[in-house]
Amino acid sequence: MKPRPVIAIDGPAGAGKSTVARMVCQRTGLAMLDTGAMYRGIAWAAHRDKLDVADAGLMTRLANEVDLQFQGIPARLVVDGVDVGDEIRTLEIGQDASRLSEHSGVRQALVAQQQRIIEAGGFVLEGRDVTTVVAPKAELKIFLTASVEERGRRRWEESKARGVTDTLPMVIKDVISRDYRDYTRADSPLMLAEDAVIIESFGLTPEAVVDRIMELLLKRTSV
Ligand code: C5P
Repeated sequence: MKPRPVIAIDGPAGAGKSTVARMVCQRTGLAMLDTGAMYRGIAWAAHRDKLDVADAGLMTRLANEVDLQFQGIPARLVVDGVDVGDEIRTLEIGQDASRLSEHSGVRQALVAQQQRIIEAGGFVLEGRDVTTVVAPKAELKIFLTASVEERGRRRWEESKARGVTDTLPMVIKDVISRDYRDYTRADSPLMLAEDAVIIESFGLTPEAVVDRIMELLLKRTSV
């Protein structure tokens, strides 16, 4: 394997990207960049400042001004010096992150930061545009997906484990509306990069998905 490859994983909400990316990092020693957490961090700051996420100008300014840092392993997001850890994982913050991610100014600010972070290589990144916009030259590009029901169920299990009381229908509705915005937004919608490998994760354990990614990585980086 090349010493500092970049592995980019895109896919819709709840496809298992975070779990799989974290496990690939453990196996390879690469660092993780969760780009969705950055959109959530801006949504958190918008709540803090009581700003309307529909306002493109305000959100662009916020995305350029807010300080986003990742600290620790597994990495936790720190926004303007505040560890926002689990606070950014609510349905409300997810919906607002999805809404503000439609603004081109926000995307430009965050993509520029993401590209600076991964400049020297050595990252597994996950998101909605990492195979197409953030790291189009990544050594390996994966599109990880599963049905809406399966993704909703997984997100619901995760939220239950954190003690959140959202119901399964609420979580499925959330996934459907975020999918819609991700696939239809004008600027960098979620799409399949030409050279991405599709992995349908239904019926596969996270370990099996990671095995497949490791096989592909060895093939791509040993030439
Ligand atoms: O991946 P996660 O669910 O944490 O992302 C939160 C929201 O941020 C998503 O619903 C998506 O609309 C947006 N996002 C994005 N581009 C990325 C990562 C996330 O637009 N690269």
